[in-house]
Amino acid sequence: MNCRNHPEREARVSCQKMMIGYCEECLENCEACTDPCTYCKFRPQCIIWELCKKSEKRYKLEAESKGNQS
Ligand SMILES: [Zn+2]
Repeated sequence: MNCRNHPEREARVSCQKMMIGYCEECLENCEACTDPCTYCKFRPQCIIWELCKKSEKRYKLEAESKGNQS
């Protein structure tokens, strides 16, 4: 499997929900989770989501998704 955003690179991790691979750079930039605003049953064990924990973008997306629900 290759990276979704960088097809010339081999994927480092893959999303279990979307069946898509991502390289390390995508993880660093938190461009990895393609569907952060909807429920993902794999999220508690999702390495992508876990690695994005340090990213402000992740919290922003999380807050937005909560805002949309209310
Ligand atoms: Zn990439």
